[in-house]
Amino acid sequence: MFRFDRPLARCRTAAFVGGALLSACAAPQRYLPPSMRTAPPPTPVTANVPAPPRGAPPAASAPRPASPEAAASGAAAVTSPVRSPADVVVTPLPTPSVPAAIAARFPEPAVSFATPAFDVGRTAFTTNAELRTILRGLERGASLGEQATDVNVLSLGVSQAGEPIEAIAFTRPSAAAAAASARRPTVVLLAGQHGDEPAGTEALIIVAQAIAAGRHANILERVDVVVLPRANPDGAAAFTRNAADGTDVNRDHLLLNTAEARAIAKLLVDVAPIVVLDLHEYPVSPAFTAKFGGVQRFDALIQYATVPNLAAFVTKAAEEWFRVPLLAGLRSGGMTVDWYATMSSDPADRTLTMGSVGAQVGRNASGLRSAVSLLVETRGGGMGRVDLKRRVHTHVSAVGNVLTSAARHADDLVKLRQFVDRDTIALACRGEMVLDAAPTPSEYATSMLDPATGDVRRLTVSWLSALQLRPLKTRPRPCGYWLAESEGEAVRRLRLLGIEVQRLDELGELRGEGFRMVAREPVAPEAAASNAGAATRLRVQLLPALLDVAIGSYYVSLEQPLGNLAVAVLEPESPASYAANGIIADVEHEARILTRPAIRTTALP
Ligand SMILES: [Zn+2]
Repeated sequence: MFRFDRPLARCRTAAFVGGALLSACAAPQRYLPPSMRTAPPPTPVTANVPAPPRGAPPAASAPRPASPEAAASGAAAVTSPVRSPADVVVTPLPTPSVPAAIAARFPEPAVSFATPAFDVGRTAFTTNAELRTILRGLERGASLGEQATDVNVLSLGVSQAGEPIEAIAFTRPSAAAAAASARRPTVVLLAGQHGDEPAGTEALIIVAQAIAAGRHANILERVDVVVLPRANPDGAAAFTRNAADGTDVNRDHLLLNTAEARAIAKLLVDVAPIVVLDLHEYPVSPAFTAKFGGVQRFDALIQYATVPNLAAFVTKAAEEWFRVPLLAGLRSGGMTVDWYATMSSDPADRTLTMGSVGAQVGRNASGLRSAVSLLVETRGGGMGRVDLKRRVHTHVSAVGNVLTSAARHADDLVKLRQFVDRDTIALACRGEMVLDAAPTPSEYATSMLDPATGDVRRLTVSWLSALQLRPLKTRPRPCGYWLAESEGEAVRRLRLLGIEVQRLDELGELRGEGFRMVAREPVAPEAAASNAGAATRLRVQLLPALLDVAIGSYYVSLEQPLGNLAVAVLEPESPASYAANGIIADVEHEARILTRPAIRTTALP
């Protein structure tokens, strides 16, 4: 019997008590306090659950600035200018020289890959035109035998420079396709949000080729798979991280300023995946070696969604059904793996920070869609073609492992989604929610390579753990939010996120709380990118009010599965909020609504 109710209730109660217990709920099982380890197991797993590893759990307390990866992000323009491809300035491929002792640590795997990047004598990665041709070829020539799998190229949008953004979908009709709840579980594989991280795209071409050739028939029996190999084609063409307008696509998943993030949102809304795997490459950096005295050694760095208001069981499923087998699989394949973390650009700051806890980051935004959301970063940033086959092999191995786990747990994942959706709806109008949180300072035992000898050196570093969120601001959860009729742009973006918005069809009175601006506080440049690009953070005062609402104004109920995504953009003090980022012009144009409106409304189509 599949039971979530009792452990979750306990977990939620804990959330009101304080930060330590809250993080216990949000973190993997090994961090649970003893009271939560006793029966019934607080696990969504029904079979074959590997025991979580007994690592050194990070622990402690105090906020820190965001990751340096975040700091690399660009501006927060509300509209994306259309760039001509002629404007694209191509960054030369880096050609780092790697000492022999280090290179010996990363032997080339004995595999062969058939993407254009691996053609003999080739120096470029697969081009956008080649990718398009490959996807079309797979669509036409898939040999899935007697299987009933459809293969379709999906057009998700057009990049800022006019390149199509395309996915390839391997799907079967649901037995009851009309009912969304009966939808076959879908896994989304995503790469190429950062144009200078090529291994993920090459890997997803290889994965799509393998699926189309019928080599994953057992997986297609259980799940649909949608592959988006290159989400930022302009960045790939220029070999630059960001989109053509300078925006970091992976930090644009709530504001949706870019065509690229909108394309990803369209896919996520259309297929409502139960698993999202996002492939990146982390920079192997001389600055890192200068700071820590060691060379980064991990083939893959991994993290799942770590964001306030994430359903605890989504985290548990990510840990137990996916991360644990993924670590085991990669290690048995001779690859090294650790948690994802970055360093700050301050040479004196020897802290490693796990990936962002901001809701606008793709990994976290997908988590707030109640998908198991996983990030895999291979050791390839700034490395050009060095170790390319190993990097791609690492990604291909990771994808295979995640697909296997998704297929194995397909039924459980569907039940998990249904449970979390119902639970999210039930949370409206009651309890507390976290508007802003920080990772928890701690120490962590990791390892690096000696730059001269290549030997493994173990060391303990200062560590900001995203597995334990420290709430910075909490607030009672309203029933929903009211928006003035002038806030059509915010409504448009909410709809692009898949959030249901209702239009008020009659005059009425709503009991709620309005906002008054207290301060716009500047955000340090390094933190601004993780703050959804906003250079300011808002502080507001709540004003209890009876609101006379006009016909044509809007109501966003939290009684919907994407309620936590709505909170992240509509609470003004949430770092990624539409008010902080100028999409809602004035905080007085929105309000928290504390009772269900007894007014006639129409859901926007
Ligand atoms: Zn990246």
